[in-house]
Amino acid sequence: MDIYKLLANIVGKRYVSNNPAELFIYSRDSGAQSPRIVDYVVLPKTTEEVRQVLILANEKKIPVTPLGGGMSLSALVVPTRGGIVLDMKRMDQILEINEINRYALIEAGVSQGSLKTHLEKRHPRLQHSIPEAPPTVTVVGNVLIQGHGHISPRYGINSDMINGMEIVLPTGDICKIGSPSVGPYWFTRGPLPDLPGLFIGWFGTTGVVTKLSIKLYPKPRYREVITFVTDDIDIIPEAIFETTQVDLLEDFFLISQGKPVWMNRVFFVIIVAGHSEEELEFKKNAYKNVFREIQGGKVVTFVDDLHPALRDRFLAVPPLAALAADFKKGGGFEYTGSIIPIDKVSEAWRKGMEIARKYDMVYSYVHQILGGHSIMFSYNYSFNRADAEDAERTRQALEESNKLTLDIGGMIWKGGVNAQRMTMDKMDAGTVELIRKIKSALDPNGIMNPGNWEVV
Ligand SMILES: Cc1cc2nc3c(=O)[nH]c(=O)nc-3n(C[C@H](O)[C@H](O)[C@H](O)COP(=O)(O)OP(=O)(O)OC[C@H]3O[C@@H](n4cnc5c(N)ncnc54)[C@H](O)[C@@H]3O)c2cc1C
Repeated sequence: MDIYKLLANIVGKRYVSNNPAELFIYSRDSGAQSPRIVDYVVLPKTTEEVRQVLILANEKKIPVTPLGGGMSLSALVVPTRGGIVLDMKRMDQILEINEINRYALIEAGVSQGSLKTHLEKRHPRLQHSIPEAPPTVTVVGNVLIQGHGHISPRYGINSDMINGMEIVLPTGDICKIGSPSVGPYWFTRGPLPDLPGLFIGWFGTTGVVTKLSIKLYPKPRYREVITFVTDDIDIIPEAIFETTQVDLLEDFFLISQGKPVWMNRVFFVIIVAGHSEEELEFKKNAYKNVFREIQGGKVVTFVDDLHPALRDRFLAVPPLAALAADFKKGGGFEYTGSIIPIDKVSEAWRKGMEIARKYDMVYSYVHQILGGHSIMFSYNYSFNRADAEDAERTRQALEESNKLTLDIGGMIWKGGVNAQRMTMDKMDAGTVELIRKIKSALDPNGIMNPGNWEVV
């Protein structure tokens, strides 16, 4: 029997395709990378179906690329060696919301939008951490790439919010990690050997996550945005330090754009939340005092006339800060997400602008502060998808900002295959060898998303 028929026997004819017209969309993502070949798309409904697909792929040595919403950009879900794209969207059940223990147990295809809507309707006092990405992206895809959301400045990055997972290993074995490996509750990740680390940040190369338990957090009734502005890039590290010394914020990001001209400044956007109006007022004043004291209030000023449209954009959950990024009107968008130490922000800012100028990009920055310890500094590039030269310029700009990130001591977040190679070239040799050993132990035939974290 040919592979198509074997796959159809597992998931049903309707949920497998090798039709080029249907594979078109799976052969590319919305970033700047060129399309690649896909042989089959398979949409499983159950863990058992995932298991059978992996057993078949492992036996026949067919590459498998897991796909959530496919919006991590940098072509992480576009196969480098053809084979099967395992589209998880049909596994879309919210299995449990445990209010008292504050967690949500979901299947791998549950989107950010559906979990958000479900909580708003049925559990309005709880929320999860939502990235600024389109609502169709999956919660699982996001935690697996160590994403961050609208409450990450307060509670940490989203992969730290994992309680437990169910995983199908490339060989077809199924395991649970975290508390569900021991008892009925999906409420905590430890105290156990910390196995989630074998699947987080690996870009689907070590197994397929089928279920996830993620922490939920209190959702205060009131939210407000306060904004400060400066033209002095050099005070950014100090301002971040002072702001995060006062531990009262929910979200905190910096935004700046080349266009329109009035946005060509550094905006500090702070979201505070409170269970009462008094609490909100107290927090707002606390931050006004912080900024008043930074260099005597001379270089940073409070924006008390924020345009209502901008206020709504910042207060939306998630904030719609990057919305204006389509400068070239071609719908193309990709960014180097660099995780850098806070004291490197000014240098990254200046050098990033040079790259934008060199490649004819309108510079556009939205940086989220992740606790008081690091910042996700995004070098955003919008390009015209229909213009091949513009796409090529964008690829070169991305390559350069990836390199810059490593040069200044940072880490490239969710980088594609080239960025992973760049990272491994710098990596300690013992660590590279450990990666190789872990991958070959879990995936002896190298079928999972080959090319990614590949040690050559
Ligand atoms: C405009 C815009 C704004 C964004 N803002 C943010 C932001 O604020 N914060 C943020 O964190 N991200 C952001 N992103 C990046 C990205 O879209 C999100 O992180 C998104 O949640 C990724 O989820 P996904 O479902 O699209 O993942 P995918 O792209 O589908 O997958 C990501 C990786 O995980 C693997 N994978 C997916 N599902 C599984 C599974 N079940 N088992 C094993 N491996 C799997 C894939 O193979 C891939 O390597 C933004 C993107 C855009 C376009």
